[in-house]
Amino acid sequence: MNNFNQELTDRLGILHAQGLRRELRRVDSPPGTRIRIDGRTLLNFSSNDYLGLAGDPLLKEAAIRAVEKYGAGSGASRLICGSLAPHHELEETLANFKGAEAALSFSTGYATAIGTICALLGKNDVMVLDKLVHACIVDAARLSGAKIRVFAHNDLDGLEKMLRWSSAFRLSGSMLKRELQPPRILIVTESIFSMDGDAAPLREIAALKEKYGAWLMVDEAHATGLYGKNRRGLAEESGVCGQIEVQMGTLGKAVGASGGYICGSRPLIDYLVNRARSFIFSTAPVPAAAAAATAGVRLIQSPEGERRQRVLWEHVEKCRTGILPVPDSSKDGDRLEACPTLSAIIPILIGDEARAVAASAALRERDIFVPAIRYPTVARGKARLRVTLTATHTPDDVSELVAALQSIRHHK
Ligand SMILES: *Cc1c(COP(=O)(O)O)cnc(C)c1O
Repeated sequence: MNNFNQELTDRLGILHAQGLRRELRRVDSPPGTRIRIDGRTLLNFSSNDYLGLAGDPLLKEAAIRAVEKYGAGSGASRLICGSLAPHHELEETLANFKGAEAALSFSTGYATAIGTICALLGKNDVMVLDKLVHACIVDAARLSGAKIRVFAHNDLDGLEKMLRWSSAFRLSGSMLKRELQPPRILIVTESIFSMDGDAAPLREIAALKEKYGAWLMVDEAHATGLYGKNRRGLAEESGVCGQIEVQMGTLGKAVGASGGYICGSRPLIDYLVNRARSFIFSTAPVPAAAAAATAGVRLIQSPEGERRQRVLWEHVEKCRTGILPVPDSSKDGDRLEACPTLSAIIPILIGDEARAVAASAALRERDIFVPAIRYPTVARGKARLRVTLTATHTPDDVSELVAALQSIRHHK
């Protein structure tokens, strides 16, 4: 083996020794509440397909029709000749769904964050981030070159401190370099956090951003389709849609397809078409993905979407009351603890990486699939089981999960 492979093998060995080495699992079934892995059928509590749309006949038919009409590939980037009718239909549907002036779709949520943040900010600007924002926002922040200020998770005092610092920085910046734009301040948070399943205090954050003249970007990846009367997300439920300059989300979770989106003002969208490099320098998403996403959004808007939203919350209630109350134990590793906020994501904190992996394996012995989430997805020593519920689970599925969680708790 040459040095290159030797070095990589050594690095993998270190990951393995730390309980952090990861491997792909081949799944031999469509997305759903039952998945086939290694010849076994498992009850699946790991999907972000919260409303069960990924395998829905309406979305599949939309994708098939798009393939037949527009082909398998899109042939070019959006600004050349790849801006196909299904992309435009998707963007009109998204703007209508979110009650926004305009929308732009990207190939993934990851590309959405990278393209949008780097288009809006440069090295003279400041980005203020919640400590737990998704990796794509952290990567975008770094790539933009902006000054990065991080506040403790959901800590409004910390946020205000960073905003005060940013305002002072802005003042000094505009005095030093009169020819430049004064520095911009962009606050970025998720609405429902992907690994903790808790909610950001959006009303208070919006008030602070007004007070300090900052811009606000909210990533609704785990809230789109699930919250609010029109299922637009937590911003709708919190009544702050009008105060968020940049509304971001993914089409790969509750929407059931793939891609990402920004909703906002017409100038924002026109600007991103000109400046978001992950949008400009990349082949347009395949027509099937855009058409499936359009069908997913329309289903979310329909009475069936409302029904699924209701069923999902019933499952969440049932699961949470089944897991709680938390047994009191002072030993860190023995705690199975659900976080107190209502979301489809129910993290069960374990702490130690190897114990989290063992707990996941114990559930798998019972034909239940709940992944162990470890560093670098969460901080070291904050490993957890991450349960996600979907509208297509049955009440019996949820009972089975709760019983299995109770039994692994007692067999430590
Ligand atoms: C999943 C996720 C993304 C990325 O979206 P993809 O479409 O999967 O690339 C962005 N932000 C958050 C909070 C996410 O959970």
